[in-house]
Amino acid sequence: MAFERVRKVVDTKLAAIGLHIKYKIRTLKEGESYSSNRSHVIYINPIDAKSKMMARQNLRHILFHEVGHIFANDNFTKKIKKDPKFLALFGDLTKHYRRDMRKKFRHIDFVSTYAQVHPSDNFCEAFAVYCTFEGNLKEIFKHVKKRAEKVRKQMRWINKFIKQMNN
Ligand SMILES: [Zn+2]
Repeated sequence: MAFERVRKVVDTKLAAIGLHIKYKIRTLKEGESYSSNRSHVIYINPIDAKSKMMARQNLRHILFHEVGHIFANDNFTKKIKKDPKFLALFGDLTKHYRRDMRKKFRHIDFVSTYAQVHPSDNFCEAFAVYCTFEGNLKEIFKHVKKRAEKVRKQMRWINKFIKQMNN
């Protein structure tokens, strides 16, 4: 399968931070990548790996991003999503999933341009960068050094959440 190699890297990195998420991958020939949160099927259009709107331009990032949607759906209770700290960092994930594609400019409060299209994608973009560096905050902060403190706070939040989950 086309994604076998990238999947191996992604799963190894997820395991390194204590996450074991089961999912299937299907290839899309048109349209944007997405995931079916309930069935844990990730549909990937390889062209998305080239998108400058994403935090990183590779397939691994796209896969981490989509895994992020599944992770959020599986683990975020309404209580978490409505927590003021969470809302301040990521926005309201319960908001109807309709992306605002007008936001095409970089903003230092976001880890990527795409992170601005919906609070769920804000979380997934941060999650993907967090996973890329296997939760190593020092390395992550180096990567996001041009971003606002808010992005570092997002990373710390994800770090704390995953550590608590794994306890
Ligand atoms: Zn997304």
